[in-house]
Amino acid sequence: MIKVCNFCGNKNFKQKNVQHIYRHEDKLLIINNVPCEECEYCGEKYFTAKVLKKIEQEFKEIYFSGKRAAKRLTVPVEEFMEIQ
Ligand SMILES: [Zn+2]
Repeated sequence: MIKVCNFCGNKNFKQKNVQHIYRHEDKLLIINNVPCEECEYCGEKYFTAKVLKKIEQEFKEIYFSGKRAAKRLTVPVEEFMEIQ
């Protein structure tokens, strides 16, 4: 699918399932076991357009159509200035 890594120029990739965090403004969606091709040298991950589209669609269904996600996490948030 991909010939050369955009970041390091490496040509070897491995098929992997990874956790992907989709973010739009302040909204996050964590998807586990997303298929991708990972650069063996720098670790950059490449997803197919089809996979990314599916994730975007799921994001919209959860945030705008009220679909229930399989699981929800509560995430702590801090300002760096406040933790000095
Ligand atoms: Zn690379």
